[in-house]
Amino acid sequence: MIVVRRPEEADTYLDAGAMRCPSCQGRVARWGYGRVRTVRSLGTATVTVRPQRVRCRDCGATHILLPTALQARRADTTEVIGNALAHKAKGMGFRRIAERMDRPESTVRRWLRRATDEHVQWMCHQGNQRLIQIASEVFSAIRYAGNLLLHTLCILSAAAVEDRRRFGFTDPPWDLIGIYTQGRLLSPPHRG
Ligand SMILES: [Zn+2]
Repeated sequence: MIVVRRPEEADTYLDAGAMRCPSCQGRVARWGYGRVRTVRSLGTATVTVRPQRVRCRDCGATHILLPTALQARRADTTEVIGNALAHKAKGMGFRRIAERMDRPESTVRRWLRRATDEHVQWMCHQGNQRLIQIASEVFSAIRYAGNLLLHTLCILSAAAVEDRRRFGFTDPPWDLIGIYTQGRLLSPPHRG
């Protein structure tokens, strides 16, 4: 899987031969499309996409180009899952979050369980790297207040705000956070 900001951007990279295989760093070429996916956006809205697929010319592996608004193997958008994590960071339990966001309790509980300490630390590291790179003074001004998830979301949001402000990116903040975290606000099940 390769996370892309937008399909148009993926085309530009592909045409320039600039997209690399995540397995071996070889050059990739277009290789049809993945299956059509309909995912849930905030509230009852849905988004339907048919992600492009690429194949590596060196190792032969195929990879799906995942738009950053989407999450790997999840039926809800980055924004939806991000909002659920933000509620958790403020102390809400899965039942209240499910009610607030109009999602089944079992779904929300599954999400929150995938926000493991190990994974949140990894996300924090991703956010730190980006924020230090573009706005080290902002990074230095953020103090850790004892809540890892809240701190991590604060770092990731600050990076998105600075990216938009400094570079004029028009992507919604959650889409940028999806890039920093490589389409994984939640840890994949097989990684524990
Ligand atoms: Zn390869």
